Amino acid sequence: QCIHACPVGAIGEREQIGELLTALADPQKIVVTQIAPSVRLAIAEEWGRESGSLPMEQLVAGIRNIGFDYVLNTNFTADLTVMEESRELLERITTGGTLPMFTSCCPAWIRFAEIFFPQLLGHISSCKSPQQMFGALVKTYWAEKTGIDPAQIYSVAIMPCTAKKYEALRPEMKDSDYPDVDLVLTTRELGRLFHMTGVNPFNLEGSDFDSWMSEYSGAGVLFGASGGVAEAALRTVCQAATGQELPPLDFQELRGMQGVKTAELNLNGDIIKVAAVHSLSNARELAEAVKAGESPYHFIEVMACPGGCIGGGGQAFTSSNQLRACRIGELYNEEKGRILRNAHDNNEVKHLYEDYLHNSDESAVHELLHTHYSPQPKVL
Ligand code: SF4
Repeated sequence: QCIHACPVGAIGEREQIGELLTALADPQKIVVTQIAPSVRLAIAEEWGRESGSLPMEQLVAGIRNIGFDYVLNTNFTADLTVMEESRELLERITTGGTLPMFTSCCPAWIRFAEIFFPQLLGHISSCKSPQQMFGALVKTYWAEKTGIDPAQIYSVAIMPCTAKKYEALRPEMKDSDYPDVDLVLTTRELGRLFHMTGVNPFNLEGSDFDSWMSEYSGAGVLFGASGGVAEAALRTVCQAATGQELPPLDFQELRGMQGVKTAELNLNGDIIKVAAVHSLSNARELAEAVKAGESPYHFIEVMACPGGCIGGGGQAFTSSNQLRACRIGELYNEEKGRILRNAHDNNEVKHLYEDYLHNSDESAVHELLHTHYSPQPKVL
């Protein structure tokens, strides 16, 4: 099967269960997985159950039962992405940098921009996606914390997305000195794996995530829905710009299934205009406006899939708008239930900066968390 069936890598699916089973059976490999929040919201559908009805603890227990050695949480680096992206946005605003700034966590959008809007690449945040920040850190920071040889770590990402498989293969994603992410498994593949191995997480006692790189805030959870990345970033931008601890800010206008959503933020008298779009047809329209110098926005979130990652190309094939709305409802319930709702309140992320990133060489840190983009030919 060809991973490049779609020009942005979002449609072709490369089945990798066999590769994973080989890694799990290899006594020399320590298989560490990160799991994205949208996976839990759809995986119950693999048993014909309601979206979001499998608690995360039981999903973690199920993944352990399959044989993974460590189970960690992509939400941790979603919070880290918020920190880095907010800092970058504020820097661009205060220093006259290139605006609007587009988000960078959707690899299908990145590929689309590289092919069709190469003149706009300077507008895209340099932040890696949460998956790739996680991959770079698991073989550096996490390896150091746990005393595990990074050469032994086999890093798996369980994602709602087929484009993430392509993203992990990008040649620049080796900043840990190894492939940062060795294999990406979609929600559908995880469902098949559960059925193949006879593991039913609904029948298991719950289990916690492993330590280091698992604490997360509601802001990280928001990454699963269109508008969520922008909302999460605005909360932290507000705190960073005002220097005040604010209550969590809900941006209702950035929620829901409309193709283009907009919001404004008053930052010390300056109005910051934000847009969140899903589907590449909407992204194209906004990108054309930016290219023509006609966009009023400072910050634009783009997600290629309808509704964002909850409607990703790696989720159950039965996705419909009703199902997407159901997953989104569950996502906002989960985010509201978190004690921590702002990325900048995540203590493990603070610890990562204080204990590791601030003590490391600045350019090495930049490489771990940031990347670059290049124009790509239209024909693959
Ligand atoms: Fe992947 Fe779709 Fe999410 Fe983009 S919006 S990261 S293509 S699941």
